[in-house]
Amino acid sequence: GVAAPAPYLENLNDPQREAVEALDGPVLVLAGAGTGKTRVLTTRLAHLLNTRRAWPSQVLAVTFTNKAAREMKQRIGALIGGTVEGMQWLGTFHALGAKILRRHAELAGLRSDFTILDTDDQIRLMKQVIQAADIDEKRWPARQLASLIDGWKNKALGPDQVPKGEGFAFANGKGAELYAAYQERLKTLNAVDFGDLLVENLRIFQEHPEVLEDFQNRFKYILVDEYQDTNVAQYLWLRLLARGHKNICCVGDDDQSIYGWRGAEVDNILKFETDFPGAKVIRLEQNYRSTPHILQAASGLITANQGRLGKTLWTQMNEGEKVTVKGVWDGEEEARAIGEDIEQFQRKDHSLSEIAILVRASFQMREFEDRFINLGLPYRVIGGPRFYERMEIRDANAYFRLVAQPDDDLAFERIINKPKRGLGNVAVQTLHQAARAQGTSMWRAARALIDSEELKPQARRALTTFVESVERWRKLLPALPHTELAEQILDESGYTEMWQNDKTAEAPGRLDNLKELVRSMEQFENMAGYLEHVSLVMDKDDQETDDKINLMTLHAAKGLEFDTVFLPGWEEGLFPHQRALDESGLAGLEEERRLAYVGITRAKKRAKISFAANRRIHNLWQNSLPSRFIDELPEANVEVEQQGDTYSYGPSRFDEGGFAGSDYDSPGWRRARANAGSTSTPPRRAPMIDAQATLIATSAPDAEGFARGERVFHQKFGYGRIESIEGTKLTVAFEKAGTKKVISSFVERT
Ligand code: ATP
Ligand code: MG
Repeated sequence: GVAAPAPYLENLNDPQREAVEALDGPVLVLAGAGTGKTRVLTTRLAHLLNTRRAWPSQVLAVTFTNKAAREMKQRIGALIGGTVEGMQWLGTFHALGAKILRRHAELAGLRSDFTILDTDDQIRLMKQVIQAADIDEKRWPARQLASLIDGWKNKALGPDQVPKGEGFAFANGKGAELYAAYQERLKTLNAVDFGDLLVENLRIFQEHPEVLEDFQNRFKYILVDEYQDTNVAQYLWLRLLARGHKNICCVGDDDQSIYGWRGAEVDNILKFETDFPGAKVIRLEQNYRSTPHILQAASGLITANQGRLGKTLWTQMNEGEKVTVKGVWDGEEEARAIGEDIEQFQRKDHSLSEIAILVRASFQMREFEDRFINLGLPYRVIGGPRFYERMEIRDANAYFRLVAQPDDDLAFERIINKPKRGLGNVAVQTLHQAARAQGTSMWRAARALIDSEELKPQARRALTTFVESVERWRKLLPALPHTELAEQILDESGYTEMWQNDKTAEAPGRLDNLKELVRSMEQFENMAGYLEHVSLVMDKDDQETDDKINLMTLHAAKGLEFDTVFLPGWEEGLFPHQRALDESGLAGLEEERRLAYVGITRAKKRAKISFAANRRIHNLWQNSLPSRFIDELPEANVEVEQQGDTYSYGPSRFDEGGFAGSDYDSPGWRRARANAGSTSTPPRRAPMIDAQATLIATSAPDAEGFARGERVFHQKFGYGRIESIEGTKLTVAFEKAGTKKVISSFVERT
């Protein structure tokens, strides 16, 4: 029939509409933040369905998070009216890879009920592999091997494809060997890790062209969001699948490539035109998200990066507020200041869900969480320490896994003696040996062992009871609603009771979590569906729609937008992160800068940057310097917020007058940098009340060799004489500015 008129097309500008309507052949939408790339992708999918170009099951659409996939599904429904059924191929690379692998597991030497290991299980397994190879696990830690192997999987390299010499450093050249042993262990466990999902897909596609062909025919259209962050394996996977109909549309922004450390190759976006001949490249320049100040601040910052494609961005919005920069004493005060700002927004009826705090490192979150709890401000952590990662949840899931997936050794081991049932190390060793000798799983070995004399009578009895319970639960699996069964398993296994008898302070919370767990399982059809979800959730997938502040890392904020965005911790060493600089030099710095760009461009109306003079990192107090990224913001779009004036924070550019962006290398900075070091005791807090009232005179010269009575120069307050010294803080009677507390690192001797 005749296609229905498409009102959704009217809500697009010309190039956006062109990108939506260019349905045939490869299309790349390359554009800056907030220009509507995701909107284009969503509308394009709606358009495909609406014009009957494809059935929902014929479109492969890749999003970066599970949450983004859910949102896209909803929006498509809204665009074409009603819910869309049958969009089975909309999800993350991991979810899509898992789905394909389940269908063809046998081709990869797996059964279709294979387990997807999370990072923790992965590390435990690698530990075993390292030990089995008689390598000193202390010297060659499993984590290091894990990151090596992940790196190879990101590049789609199997154990036999690892280039000679690569990873040679690990265990004197045993890297590839251990990789092979690890893969073998995975196969016996009927398990895969995240990296395997796509690598196994690729192997199947290569070895079974008819399977590949089948998928190539099925996927008439392929859509990919955040294309700049695809790694080699993802890229190869897309390229193979797109070879059929060649209708692939990727959207991305080279300036937002922030997963290089995880193997993403920004090159993928740069060479799209060569990979997909005849590709149409569409650029979008109008930003619909942010005010001019925010947009210009971000655009100015990112120009410091070399080797970008470069792009113009403009907006029709009103000028709005400048990006603010504020210095504070330490992280605690930063949390307090931001808490106060948020309370003010709240009084002005701003909704909390339109406020986000984006941190560079997850340890920064705790201070905010504490503060919010204190103030009674509701908040959610996105992608943070996940619910599913808590010990009691992992234990419970191990029970469920063992019931649903008998050969899951890691699950078996985790709970075989939890609660204690007299199956300690000796029994577990025996089970291990038996499993290895018979080449089977621990579960099967256990079943054989209860009919033998291998174990002491007591252990044998305990194992028999355990095996019988698991078998009973397994029989109930198809019969009982899975939530009921879950409850039954937790009760009958004695697991719930274990926490009921536990007298530690955490126990009640753990019991609550277990209840919450069973409740949360209701949204799944069955146990298998639930377990699949658990192994795939990358982010906290918060279902609540309550009005809450959003707390997350900058990495987790990709693609999102909020009215107000707080960007705390803009300090050298934290942001840019020292590790990025140490490990990857200029490339690392540029990736950090892109992260800063991503952070600022999440803001629709307000971006509020802050930095602390003292930061506690891994229990060490550190004097810190404002991030160089602050210097790189264009002066005209930034306003310095004063935080009282009992003390001042360093750099001269924080004059009352404004912002002199050029003196990052001023003597004060150099001196501060020379003095920046670690101590294990916290610096004493700056007084919150008038400095005059807290004057503590010390006669002895203190930190950094300043003496009372000495004449000094401060870049903001000019000349003055030291009245007292307290730790690293000086009270100085300035000739023009009056008496102030300042930090000694920002003061020069005259
Ligand atoms: P990012 O690079 O951050 O992922 P993006 O390019 O994907 O950004 P979107 O998230 O799609 O941008 O769009 C940014 C905002 O602008 C959204 O709120 C979106 O609804 C809005 N928007 C996009 N295009 C238009 C348009 N033509 N008219 C009105 N609003 C638009
Ligand atoms: Mg987007």
